[in-house]
Amino acid sequence: MSEIIVQKYGGTSVGSPERIQAVAKRVQQFRKTNPFVVIVVSAMGDTTDDLIALSKQISTSPNPREYDALISTGENISAALTAMALQALGVPAISLTGPQAGVITQGIHSKSKIAKVNTDRILAELKEGKVVVVTGFQGLNDANDVTTIGRGGSDTSAVVLAAALKAPICDICTDVDGVYTTDPRKVATATKISEISYDEMLELASLGAKVLHPRSVECAKENGIILHVRSSFKMDEGTYVKEASAMEVNRPVTGVTLNSSEAQVSICGVPDSPGVAGKVFTRLADESINVDMIIQSLGADGKNQISFTVDQDDLANAKVITEQVARELGAGSVECDDEVAKVSIVGVGMMSKPGVAATLFRTLGDHGINIRLISTSEIKVSCVVPKSEGQRALELLHSAFELG
Ligand code: ADP
Ligand code: ASP
Ligand code: MG
Repeated sequence: MSEIIVQKYGGTSVGSPERIQAVAKRVQQFRKTNPFVVIVVSAMGDTTDDLIALSKQISTSPNPREYDALISTGENISAALTAMALQALGVPAISLTGPQAGVITQGIHSKSKIAKVNTDRILAELKEGKVVVVTGFQGLNDANDVTTIGRGGSDTSAVVLAAALKAPICDICTDVDGVYTTDPRKVATATKISEISYDEMLELASLGAKVLHPRSVECAKENGIILHVRSSFKMDEGTYVKEASAMEVNRPVTGVTLNSSEAQVSICGVPDSPGVAGKVFTRLADESINVDMIIQSLGADGKNQISFTVDQDDLANAKVITEQVARELGAGSVECDDEVAKVSIVGVGMMSKPGVAATLFRTLGDHGINIRLISTSEIKVSCVVPKSEGQRALELLHSAFELG
């Protein structure tokens, strides 16, 4: 069998019957030169949001199994419709759900990971000359239940399939024509990047550039798959995400992000003794709550304040757990604030160029924007600022690092 092409189409790209028909025409085009095409689709438009809203009308804390059973259905609709649209063009096609396509997941509901793919069915259908349309976002766990892999997870479904099918490239077809220096919907002067390293893209995605699901970048890196982020509506080239060694980098900062979906949690009056932080963060990890930025400061009374950020979706749960641990530790109050935003700069170039963080702090300071938390890695600096200043901070940094 010659090389398999894997292409993922996102929610906007399959957002209406007309768009699905346009995707089918595009796939027909690709199939002329590549006989083996696998398509991964997201749910149409805002379907997943609508399904979540529907579940909330029934219950504020829905049963996790039923919740996944519900929110995974959006992809079933778009996959079946895409296969129908291909068939209407005379292209043999079949839709497969995650379970039918052999996508095996593990971990808790709504945050599962794809453990492996049994590719037999997909390969058999390809050999019969069909385009295989697979639902993104879902798979089957070892209890035979459908699970989902996190919001925006269809990108990861596509890359995992590409890896399992030994495809060298995975096309991520979306409503922008590539990866930009920042979200082009937030900053009009954002510019398209032609190539970006896995590490930078992983940081950008994790820090809020939702153009790619972070896990998809990780998986592409692990398997040496080149990601091609491109428009669903044009045939033009987009952005290639690949190994840094294959490119020349002469920019200190590659991209800037704004994430307004985190919340800050602070535990006050924490006794200053070994093991305290371990206790707090172990309990959060046990509940699969991802903690992002962490800062500990020593107060005048010899007690510490520990602050951290979590996703707003996890805030209610994180608050309950943190309050429990605070009581056990004899700490003071727990304060939560979701009026925060995180701005970040990312670039492998900053490793060799001093003063990048200083420029960031100075830019925000000169414009009266107060920084609450800071975190850094070799290739990124993030700051938590008041939510009301987030957009302005993003614009200021985008221009301070001459990304426009
Ligand atoms: P899909 O439904 O195709 O998965 P998403 O909405 O998940 O699409 O991701 C595409 C969106 O990501 C774009 O419409 C854009 O607003 C947003 N985005 C955020 N950051 C960036 C960035 N740095 N470059 C390009 N797009 C970005
Ligand atoms: N439909 C899912 C979501 O909205 C998965 C995806 O779009 O990638 O999160
Ligand atoms: Mg997406």
